[in-house]
Amino acid sequence: MVSYRMLINGQLVDSPQTLDVLNPATEAVLATVPDCSMDQLDAAVAAARRAQPAWAAQGIEARRLLLREMIRRIEPRVAQLSELLTQEQGKPLTMAAGELKSMLRFMKGLSEQTLPESVNEDSAVRRSVTRRIPLGVVAALSPWNFPALLSWWKVVPALLTGNTVVLKPSPMTPLTVLSIAEWMVDLFPPGVLNVIVGGDALGPRLTSHPGIDKVSFTGSTETGRRVMAAGASTLKRLTLELGGNDAAIVLPDVDLAKAVPQLFWSAFANSGQVCVATKRLYVHRDIYQAFAQAFVAYAATIKVGPGLDASTQLGPVQNKPQYLRVRALIEHSRQAGHPILFEGDIPEGPGYFVPVTVFDNPPDDSRVVAEEAFGPVLPLLSFDTVDEAIRRANASSYGLAGSVWTRNLNEAIDIAQRLETGNVYINESFYLSPNAPFAGHKQSGFGVEMGEDGLLSFTQPQTLMIRQDLF
Ligand code: NAD
Repeated sequence: MVSYRMLINGQLVDSPQTLDVLNPATEAVLATVPDCSMDQLDAAVAAARRAQPAWAAQGIEARRLLLREMIRRIEPRVAQLSELLTQEQGKPLTMAAGELKSMLRFMKGLSEQTLPESVNEDSAVRRSVTRRIPLGVVAALSPWNFPALLSWWKVVPALLTGNTVVLKPSPMTPLTVLSIAEWMVDLFPPGVLNVIVGGDALGPRLTSHPGIDKVSFTGSTETGRRVMAAGASTLKRLTLELGGNDAAIVLPDVDLAKAVPQLFWSAFANSGQVCVATKRLYVHRDIYQAFAQAFVAYAATIKVGPGLDASTQLGPVQNKPQYLRVRALIEHSRQAGHPILFEGDIPEGPGYFVPVTVFDNPPDDSRVVAEEAFGPVLPLLSFDTVDEAIRRANASSYGLAGSVWTRNLNEAIDIAQRLETGNVYINESFYLSPNAPFAGHKQSGFGVEMGEDGLLSFTQPQTLMIRQDLF
């Protein structure tokens, strides 16, 4: 079995305690990883603090060169990483390769960003200039659904802007991240990049640590609230990318043959474990029956199985607690008598497999509509008027993303602009870019990732005011 170590102060280190990482397709132990002790956490934060002034003083172009080298070291190893990512996360191999390709695309895009400098006043009396300087030490925490992508798209802008980093991936999916960290052991000055992994006690300690200046967190809204509370005592800067319950609104003029497969994947890709997945699908009553029929016919063609099987299109849910939660959500609706339009097959034997499950018009206040399922379950909901669809889509404490499906561009833009979400898609979903700000509204988050706003969120402004007439 390959051994995995943490990266602390430029050294690869073990820990007296270990954690098991399971393969969700087999429930067998895939690897053991160190369980970071509190002393090791303190050492990682202290190393990051020591390294930060010199790292900031290097200047952005010198840091950019090292980030480019980081990308160069990962690129030839993507095939080897895909298999590991499938084994730890569960997603099919093609999807794992897709995540890693996206990871590289984001790392490249984000590492080429530049920091603005603004001149606020330039008169005979005074010159006032604002530049952006680093915050200090950034703690980056990522979830288990896209462990590679969501970890490294935080690290690159944090380092580029002159911060040092302590990265903590989810203990459910740390292997891809630890592998990449190992390849970087001699790249950055010691302490600039630290990667630790540990059990339930580690996140709260890291996010309340007095040596951390900013927390960039992706995970559930519930944990996000804890992270916010943990940062209060030292006024940590926060970026919280949290849960979502994205609505798709489908108007009667769509081309069903094209829209149905796209909407299927927008809901079920990665077995529904995508923050910006479609989690409520509102379809106009005029086409509801035809849409539902086509959707079910398409769902019946999908093969669920272990991600390493070449024919698998959807893998298992990533971990047991999530598996039990999604199963409970489905059972709750079944017990309540909500009609099930479709329930797919799953392989026999071990593994956290959940059948693709589609509900037919459950009530808006049912758990399967109101909660973020984060699994392969979707309610299909009919509506009569656009105003009604928008009202129901917005009746959520979440505000991550949403989508509108129609051939009428003006109507699509009108609806899109009335949705209370950070991203609104027209005739697509999922797409994110290193250049476009991604910012959850309402309880989907706080702060921004990507785009110039995302980069600036790893910095603070410093304004220099020079009285010119006294020189
Ligand atoms: P989670 O909140 O359980 O865990 C996320 C990370 O926080 C993990 O590294 C975990 O170990 C750590 N953590 C757990 N408890 C902590 C605590 N008290 N203090 C500090 N850290 C703690 O989330 P998850 O179950 O891994 O991921 C699923 C959730 O993430 C879903 O709600 C999904 O919508 C959300 N998500 C959001 C985005 C986004 O960009 N908005 C992207 C992906 C996933």
